[in-house]
Amino acid sequence: MASENFRSPSFWFSDLEEPVVPRAPLEGDAQFDVAIVGAGYTGLWTAYYLNKREPGCRIAVVDAEVAGFGASGRNGGWCAYHFSGLESLMADPNTRERALALQRAMFDAVDEVGRASAAAGIDCDYAKGGALIAGRSRPDLERLREEYEEMLDLGFSEDDFTWLDASAFAERARIDGALGGLYSPHCAALQPAKLACGLASFLEARGVSVFEQSPVRTIAKGIITTDRGRIRAENVLRCTEGYTCRLPGLKRAIMPLHSMMIATEPLPDSIWKEIGLHGRPTFADRRRSVTYGQRTADDRLTFGTRGNYYYGSGLRDYFDPNSPSFAHTHSALLELFPSLNDVEITHRWGGAIGVTRDWAPFVRFDPRTGLGAVGGFAGNGVAAANLAGRTLVELVLRETTERTSFAWVNHASRNWEPEPLRWLGFNAVLTMGEWADAAEQKGRDAGLYGRIFEAFVAH
Ligand SMILES: Cc1cc2nc3c(=O)[nH]c(=O)nc-3n(C[C@H](O)[C@H](O)[C@H](O)COP(=O)(O)OP(=O)(O)OC[C@H]3O[C@@H](n4cnc5c(N)ncnc54)[C@H](O)[C@@H]3O)c2cc1C
Repeated sequence: MASENFRSPSFWFSDLEEPVVPRAPLEGDAQFDVAIVGAGYTGLWTAYYLNKREPGCRIAVVDAEVAGFGASGRNGGWCAYHFSGLESLMADPNTRERALALQRAMFDAVDEVGRASAAAGIDCDYAKGGALIAGRSRPDLERLREEYEEMLDLGFSEDDFTWLDASAFAERARIDGALGGLYSPHCAALQPAKLACGLASFLEARGVSVFEQSPVRTIAKGIITTDRGRIRAENVLRCTEGYTCRLPGLKRAIMPLHSMMIATEPLPDSIWKEIGLHGRPTFADRRRSVTYGQRTADDRLTFGTRGNYYYGSGLRDYFDPNSPSFAHTHSALLELFPSLNDVEITHRWGGAIGVTRDWAPFVRFDPRTGLGAVGGFAGNGVAAANLAGRTLVELVLRETTERTSFAWVNHASRNWEPEPLRWLGFNAVLTMGEWADAAEQKGRDAGLYGRIFEAFVAH
């Protein structure tokens, strides 16, 4: 149920028990110790851990819309061990050790989201049922197998990653055409908006100031400016992910790539008996164009696929339910579960993920200026934002810890190409990924298309 002056951006917001009433904007000038721009998971977890460590620290979180309005209130709810770019950091001898530590910390971050949200009294339907990834074509299965073997070679165990043949996979989920796949216990399913909105309310109750409906126009050393006010603060942290391109000078830093989701009506037991997913494991197949799904606490299926990049880093907050993108997402769901053909799709929405030029996220802080920034999760930020938030807090407190040595700290990616190169190049590569998937699904070689896609896009 949503309030009259707030339009629900996702199924998750519509599913909240309490109506969303936007908080008051920033009015006039104010002084804080730390100003955080962006009330998604990154900004909220940063405020959470900072407040926990330093209860006297004056913290402001400022959002253009409401807490969770961005990717954090729209995502697939995979609270997972993975983010793109980590494999290449683990493969590189120069960054291997720090990347392995980061991977282990990501396993823990999955649990920490559950622990911390429970400790804050937030019921976000967290269920740690693991993640299932199916190979539905021979090449996809081989790629998955290689990824699995690489993880074992790096020292992770069968407790972290389990290989499933077709029948073992089917015991957990009856995904059509699954030839086998990978299971990892390091993933929980959760209700994204319950987590984001719950965190904002918790922070407010702890004395953190949360300003909503306040687009920040400029960020500089010691000051942020909105249309109606300014905040002076010793530390200013930018947590704006896919929306970063709207800030001056950052148009090409992080690309907003949209991802599209649908939700079914609640499904009866007869369907669950057929498709499995007991214990609410999240599920996907290994296609290049990305799929991700979860069984919700109220027995719906939510399911998403990679969507569009719009010219000039265009951002969309709401989508036409008749858009062909949703038909594409729906047909991908039916490929996995053909028996859902007659099931009603009740919700359709999308949102922007933030992608850096090398598809790797970063946690940055400059102790001289007090300016920090986090972003580039590329569709894998639910658990990662928690770990990034904890890391940013340590950097703000000028501490040197294991976390502040992780491979993503102060990682720099170069800017994206200017338009029209960005739009032409990126969409061409995404289309090649779809062609390569289609070829392999028909038993053909993905050829050059597959190789070009893999050279430019991290999975
Ligand atoms: C459809 C979809 C599905 C996804 N599925 C998954 C998944 O299953 N698992 C997973 O791990 N990740 C997933 N992701 C990615 C994940 O949701 C994000 O990585 C994560 O939420 C990023 O959190 P954030 O706080 O960094 O950014 P966001 O949640 O995008 O928050 C940024 C906030 O900053 C605010 N903001 C931006 N600019 C300004 C400004 N100038 N002034 C004030 N406020 C500003 C925005 O309003 C927004 O609230 C998905 C993303 C999408 C869109």
